[in-house]
Amino acid sequence: MNSKEIREGFLKYFETKGHLRLKSFSLVPQDPTLLFTAAGMVPLKSYFLGEEIPPSRRITTVQKCVRTNDIENVGNTPRHHTFFEMLGNFSIGDYFKEEAIAFAMEFILDFLKLPKERLWVTIYKDDLETKEIWKKHGIPEERIIPLGEEDNFWMMGPVGPCGPCSEIYYDRGAINEKEEHELPGSSERRFLEFWSLVFTQYDRQIDGTLKPLPRKNIDTGMGLERITSIIEGVDSDFETDLFMPIIEHIEKLSGVSYKNSDRSIRAMRAIADHARAVTFLIADHVIPSNEKRGYVLRRLIRRAMLFGRSINLTEPFLYKLSETVSNLMGDIYPEVKEDLSYIQSVLKEEETKFNTTLKDGLYYLDNVIEDYKKKGEKEIPGDVVFYLYDTLGVPVEITELALKEVGFTYNKERFEELLESQREKARASFKGSEAFLERVSFGAVKNAVGSVEFVGYETLETVATLKSIIVDGNIVNSATDTDGILVFDKTPFYAEKGGQVGDTGIIKGENFEFEVYDTQAPVEGLTVHIGKLNGSTKVGDIASLSVDALRRQAIKRAHTSTHILQAVLRKHFGENIMQQGSEVKDDEFRFDFNFQGTFEPEELFRIEKEINEIVLKNKKVNVHVMPFNKAKEFGALAFFEEKYGDVVRVIEVEGVSKELCGGTHVSNTGEIGLVVLMQPKTVASGIKRIEGLTGLKAYDFLTNKRKLITVLENSLKTQEDKLVSKSEEIQSKVKELEKELANLKSKLLEGVIRNLEETLKFKGTPIYVYDFKEGTLNDLRKAYDLSKKYLKEGSVIFTSKFNGTSFILVGSLDDKLSSLEILEMIKEVVSLKGGGNERIAQGSFDGIIEIEKVINILGG
Ligand code: ATP
Ligand code: MG
Repeated sequence: MNSKEIREGFLKYFETKGHLRLKSFSLVPQDPTLLFTAAGMVPLKSYFLGEEIPPSRRITTVQKCVRTNDIENVGNTPRHHTFFEMLGNFSIGDYFKEEAIAFAMEFILDFLKLPKERLWVTIYKDDLETKEIWKKHGIPEERIIPLGEEDNFWMMGPVGPCGPCSEIYYDRGAINEKEEHELPGSSERRFLEFWSLVFTQYDRQIDGTLKPLPRKNIDTGMGLERITSIIEGVDSDFETDLFMPIIEHIEKLSGVSYKNSDRSIRAMRAIADHARAVTFLIADHVIPSNEKRGYVLRRLIRRAMLFGRSINLTEPFLYKLSETVSNLMGDIYPEVKEDLSYIQSVLKEEETKFNTTLKDGLYYLDNVIEDYKKKGEKEIPGDVVFYLYDTLGVPVEITELALKEVGFTYNKERFEELLESQREKARASFKGSEAFLERVSFGAVKNAVGSVEFVGYETLETVATLKSIIVDGNIVNSATDTDGILVFDKTPFYAEKGGQVGDTGIIKGENFEFEVYDTQAPVEGLTVHIGKLNGSTKVGDIASLSVDALRRQAIKRAHTSTHILQAVLRKHFGENIMQQGSEVKDDEFRFDFNFQGTFEPEELFRIEKEINEIVLKNKKVNVHVMPFNKAKEFGALAFFEEKYGDVVRVIEVEGVSKELCGGTHVSNTGEIGLVVLMQPKTVASGIKRIEGLTGLKAYDFLTNKRKLITVLENSLKTQEDKLVSKSEEIQSKVKELEKELANLKSKLLEGVIRNLEETLKFKGTPIYVYDFKEGTLNDLRKAYDLSKKYLKEGSVIFTSKFNGTSFILVGSLDDKLSSLEILEMIKEVVSLKGGGNERIAQGSFDGIIEIEKVINILGG
C-alpha cells in the first residue's frame, strides 16, 4: 500500500461511516490571528463553536497543514515536517468516544492491517471511560499509558471548549537495552505517535470549573507521512514515497548521495521538507516578505538554501524541486500543478535575490577580515556580524561559517547585546501585540463577552462598559499599572482589517487611563484594545473611549486614495488589474497589484496627476450598505474570496470607483489634499507595489525635495534650472582633468626612466634601483615596460607604496640576471610576500621597504 492508497482509503472508509468528504482548505486560514492551518480541525472551528451550521455533522478531510513551531525539528527528527497532510474524521455534536475509538481500531486493523500487538495508546490520567473502551477493543492495560494535562488534555484557551485526548502509537520494537524500558511519550525512536483523538466534552468556565458541553465533539488527526512510514516499513517519513522522489532530485542536482553522511541526510531531509512547504504556500498566495506569513515563507526558502550550501548547492535550486513536488502532488492538489510556473518564478526570484545578498555580504566580510589580518588580529567585533545580519540580511550561521573557514571568531556577547537592544526597540514600538494575541484564546473571550458593537463609522468617542481584561495571556478581573488588553461592550476604535491599521487613542475611567497602542479583531466581531494601563480598573467599570482623531483622519485620506489609485490603474491598464494586497496607515499606503511588462516612470506621473485631479474635483464619497448580490449588480469590485456576510458595505467615490470595503473613508476627495506616488517596485514576479503619501506627509515629502534642491544650488553655486547642465559640465571637466593627469604622469615617468642612472653592478650587470614613493604594482609594471624601451640592458628594481602597503618589482631587460633569484635574496632580509619568474618578480610588504637595505643586499 502506498501513500496515495492510504489517503484515499481513509476518506472512503469514513464515507462509508456516513462522513461528508470535504476538500482540503487553504493553508491560509480565515481567522486572521492564525498564521497557518496547523490541523484538520482549524478550518472547521466555527462549526465546533456553533458559530456556523456545518453541512454535515460527520466530516472527513485530508487537510494540508503547516506548523511553524516545528521548523527547528525538521531535519533533526525522522517525524517532523513544516508541511504535512493530516487525515481527520470529525463529529460535530454527533458520535463520541465509543464510536471514534471503534472507527480508529477498525481502520487500523482491517484496512491498514497493522498487528494489534504493536499498538500502544496514551490517555488523560483521569479519563477512565476511555481506558475502558480501549480495553474492550483488546488493548491490554499495560499498553495504556496515563499522562497528565500538558500532554493529553486539549484546550483552546483558558476558557471555552476543551477535553481529554488519546494518542495512538506504533511500537517499532526495541533495538537495544535502553529501548526495552521506554514508553510512549518519552521515546525517540521506538514509539511513534501517529494518530491523535480529541474528545471535546467540557466548556471551561472563568473560575476553572469544567461544565459538560451539551453537544460533544470529536476531532482526530493522523499524519499521512508518519502512517505511510509505518506501512512502508521505513525508518523515517523521509524515506517514504512522499519524499523519496524529491530527495532523488536533490541528489541529482548536488551530485551528493543522500546517505553520504549525517550532514547530507539532515540537509536533504530539510530541503525536501521545505521544498514541499514553499511550493504549497506560494500556491495558496503567500509571497515572500518581511511580515507574518510572508516572513515564514522567506525563512523557509533561506533555511533550505543554507542547507543547500552544505551540499554544494550554491545556485538557485528550490524552483527546480517545486516541479517534482508538483508532479508528486498535483493530482490531489491541483493548485500546485496549475500555478507551477508562477510558483517557480516567485521561488527563482527570491532565491536569486538572497544569493546576491549573500555575495554582497561575504564580499564585505572578506574586506573586514583582510583589515583585521593586517592588524594581526583574529577576532572581529560583534558589530560587524550584527551589521551583516541586520542591514545586509546575512544570516548569522553563514557569517559564522565564513569566519570559521579562515580561523576567525567574533565577539558573540556584543552581537547578542545588539540583538537584544533591537528586540527591545521592537517591543517598545509595540508590534509585540501579535505575540500577545497568539497566547490567548479569543474565541473563548468572545463566547464569554459576546460581540463588540462597533460605532466608529459614526463617532470617534463613546462611553462603554469594560467586559474583559487580559494580562500576560490570562483573563483577569482587575488590573493595575500594566501592559494589557481591554475589551468593551462597544467601541469607536477600528480594528486592523482589510489592510487598514488599527486605531490608537485613549481610554479614561474614574481611576485609570489606558493608552491604546493598537486595536485588533482576533476573532470576527471581537474588537480588543492593546496598550498600557495607568491606574487601576476592573471588569464592569464605565469608561470613555476616544480615538486619536487626527491620526484617524490621516488614515481615511490614505484609504480613499488607494481606491482612487486602483480605479485609475484599471482605467490605464485594463480591467484585469486587481489589488493583490494593501496596507493603509496614517497618510501612508502601499498598494500591490498584478502587472505584466514594464512600467515607465512617465506613466506613474500621469497616474499621479489624474488622482490629484480627482482629489481637486472634490468628489463625494458615499457609503452604501446592501445585500452582497445587490452590490455585484451595483458594479462594486470585490477582490477577495472572503466570506462576506449577507449585507456588505460599498464605498463609492462618485463617478470614479465602487468597492466592497469595511474601512474608513473621507466624505469628499478634497479632504485628501494631495497624493504623491513613489515609482513602482516589483515584489514578486507579476506583482508590482506602489507606495504613496497623502495629506501632510505628501506635502512634507515634496518640501524636503525642494530643500534638497536649495542645498545643491548652494553647493554647486548655480540656480535650479542650471543644475543638470552644471552637473554635466562638472563631470566632463573631471574626465578631461583625469586624462590630462594621466598624460602628465606618463610624461613624468618617461622623464624619470630616461634619466635613471646605474645604481650598482651585480655579477657584472648594471642594476637600476628607484623608489617611486607613491604608486601601485600596476604603476611599477608600467615603469618596467618603459625601461625596456629606453634602457636596453641590465635589471631594474622599483619600489612604491600605496595605502600602507609597499610594493617591489624586479625586472630584467636582457635576461642576464634572474629576477626571481634577486627577489628571493631580498626576501631573506625583508619579509615580503611574492614571487615571479626569471624576467619579472614582484612582492608586497605591509610596511616600508627601505631602499638602502635592498642596495646593501646586492653589495651596492
Ligand atoms: P509530536 O508530539 O510528535 O510533535 P503532536 O502531539 O504535536 O506530535 P498533534 O498536534 O496531536 O501532534 O497532531 C496530530 C497528528 O498530526 C500527530 O499524531 C502526527 O501524526 C501529525 N503531526 C503533528 N505534527 C506534525 C509534524 N510537525 N510533522 C508531521 N506530522 C505531524
Ligand atoms: Mg508537535
